[in-house]
Amino acid sequence: MINKNLIAIKKKIEITATRCGRSPDDIQLVAVSKRFPATTIEKAHLAGQTLFGENYIQEAKEKKELLGPTVRFHFIGHLQSNKARIAAEIFDMVETIDRIKIARTLNKHLLSLDRRMDVLIQVNIGKDPNKSGAAPEECAFLLEQVKELEAINPVGLMTITPITDNPEASRPYFKKLAKLGKRLQTLNLLPENRIELSMGMSNDYIVAIEEGATLVRVGTALFGQRPT
Ligand SMILES: *Cc1c(COP(=O)(O)O)cnc(C)c1O
Repeated sequence: MINKNLIAIKKKIEITATRCGRSPDDIQLVAVSKRFPATTIEKAHLAGQTLFGENYIQEAKEKKELLGPTVRFHFIGHLQSNKARIAAEIFDMVETIDRIKIARTLNKHLLSLDRRMDVLIQVNIGKDPNKSGAAPEECAFLLEQVKELEAINPVGLMTITPITDNPEASRPYFKKLAKLGKRLQTLNLLPENRIELSMGMSNDYIVAIEEGATLVRVGTALFGQRPT
């Protein structure tokens, strides 16, 4: 089942990228494994998937310990200061930096571990009062401050769009995020040549790729309904 889903999703990524004149290699699938047991991740790993997304620190730590270093994790949940130490230890990337305080705390732990980490700025592109993420107009100032931190390297933007059944409803948000990314590049606040855009989930990752996503976070379409 997971094997079959993985092949189908990869194929769709490839077809969409090619149709848009993009290289399929420019798009990474983040397999969102939150609430699924380590055995589920193992199945996907055996089928060739190495990158996973996790929302809960303690859960991710237990999985990391079971699965070892060849399984890479991105943190895609809301990061709290008291969990930043573990985040610094186990993740390849934190995609959800949305305030300077948490960036400084993560930086401090990374330095003490002698680690460096690529991070994304989470943007509340729809200005949804119930969602975390920096407001679009705050991103430049936030990045100016994050760039001062030695162990943290901001490489792009991430967003969570409002939940909808209609993938086209997400397109304006994806466009906005891509445009913001370009603007931050021209301001020298993000890498000049290539940035990461983490956007798109199970129901709208095709549209996200059309709008420039480099990381798509897919859970349900790959693993099925999440355990509650
Ligand atoms: C759960 C989650 C996903 C995956 O959502 P699906 O609809 O199951 O693909 C993606 N991104 C974030 C931030 C999530 O919390």
